[in-house]
Amino acid sequence: MSKSKPLPSALPDSSEISAAPADCDVLIVGAGLVGATLALRLRDSGLRVGLLDKGALQAPSVSDALARQDQSFDPRVVALTAQSQQLLERIGVWSKLTQARHCPYTQMRVWEQDGTGEVEFNAEEIYEPSLGTIIENSVIVTALHTRLAECLHEQESARAKWLTLFMGRSVLQLEQVEQAGRPLTRLHCDDGRTVSAPLIIAADGGNSRLRDLVGFETREWDYGQKAIVTTIRTRKMHDRTALQRFLSTGPLAFLPLAESGDKPQGHHCSIVWSADDARADELMACSDQAFNAQLSRAMEGAFGGVEWSDTRYVFSLRQRHAKHYVQGNIVLVGDAAHTIHPLAGQGVNLGMLDVVAIAEELEGGVAARRRPEDPLVLRRYQRRRIGPNLAMMGLMEGFKRGFGEQPVAVRWLRNVGLHSVNRVSALRKALARRALGT
Ligand SMILES: Cc1cc2nc3c(=O)[nH]c(=O)nc-3n(C[C@H](O)[C@H](O)[C@H](O)COP(=O)(O)OP(=O)(O)OC[C@H]3O[C@@H](n4cnc5c(N)ncnc54)[C@H](O)[C@@H]3O)c2cc1C
Repeated sequence: MSKSKPLPSALPDSSEISAAPADCDVLIVGAGLVGATLALRLRDSGLRVGLLDKGALQAPSVSDALARQDQSFDPRVVALTAQSQQLLERIGVWSKLTQARHCPYTQMRVWEQDGTGEVEFNAEEIYEPSLGTIIENSVIVTALHTRLAECLHEQESARAKWLTLFMGRSVLQLEQVEQAGRPLTRLHCDDGRTVSAPLIIAADGGNSRLRDLVGFETREWDYGQKAIVTTIRTRKMHDRTALQRFLSTGPLAFLPLAESGDKPQGHHCSIVWSADDARADELMACSDQAFNAQLSRAMEGAFGGVEWSDTRYVFSLRQRHAKHYVQGNIVLVGDAAHTIHPLAGQGVNLGMLDVVAIAEELEGGVAARRRPEDPLVLRRYQRRRIGPNLAMMGLMEGFKRGFGEQPVAVRWLRNVGLHSVNRVSALRKALARRALGT
């Protein structure tokens, strides 16, 4: 017997609303980096998993994927930590990534404009092969989706199907109903169809529609900065070194890119230039030549200066954190729960840690014969992740404020701080390990 709450008037007219059973045990909305990873991580959980996204499955044939390697770079890249790498290994995706363009970077130099503070990190010092790996977003999504397509194929001959994909449909509304004493959420999509499950996990990104529909409270603020992202080519090779320079108007990062799957060394970098709004508008209005010259100057001619840059993209920087990650049978993960300043490249890595925590709690719940929507199970996930995510956001905020426009005394202290970090090798190694997530 199914009890239905009244539908909001914006809902499409649907005749299948009454007693349709759940399509799966757990429905993940958003098949981006975090949602697709979570679906694959839940493979052996014993739960029936649904994955829904407004986009299509990005699983090209091998020849298409190879052809794409010759094309331009995706302007959005991520720096994956060792912990994220381990998770991707576990779900059978890392081996695909290492065949595609990926750059394990071995050195990182951080310094600032107004002062002499500088710190260098080196993978050798902490006995690791790299400090992290820079990979284009679209490369990771393609590898994840290819693995999902393989799983669909593998389960064709299996008796029990654990995975269902609902691609190419966008969530418009949700409706809470109750079925046999269990909560059931029905999502109404733009194609007029519905998908329902007792547990919904929102991995639908920073502008999460589900978060807004459910009415999760958030704390959010504008940084008053915009980030410009593009790909550049420098005159000299990057030597697998990442650079971060703190300018008085905001941080600028060069992230080294691989030329091909087996050639991590090269001349291309992805850049993220975060700047106060007025400065960012100025930079966006520049000709390519003027932009390259300003960029070379801002990075003090690193890697021999910038000789070419691709189309520039800009967006406003906003920090956002949901006050709770769980409301009833709806859970937030990844950017839907938290978006942070890109200066430390931690965004997706925090999302991957959310994946590990929610997957472990759901598996623990199955072992204890609890339902996936059991508040005890979900609250444990929230408890595990809210503190660490907030701590990382606080750290980024501190960095951003500490390196912004500051009085001379603060700048002096800050430089002494950076120098101390650079001189005290134990502290430097500890920071490198923290960034690596080990
Ligand atoms: C400039 C920049 C640089 C960054 N650099 C780094 C870095 O170096 N390292 C790092 O760790 N992170 C970095 N990040 C952050 C990182 O990109 C994000 O944290 C990550 O993409 C979040 O993944 P997600 O899966 O939570 O969300 P998304 O990647 O945004 O995926 C959301 C998915 O949900 C789908 N969706 C949305 N709405 C709906 C709907 N209504 N119905 C159905 N589907 C829907 C979308 O199609 C999409 O597939 C950076 C971010 C920026 C902006």
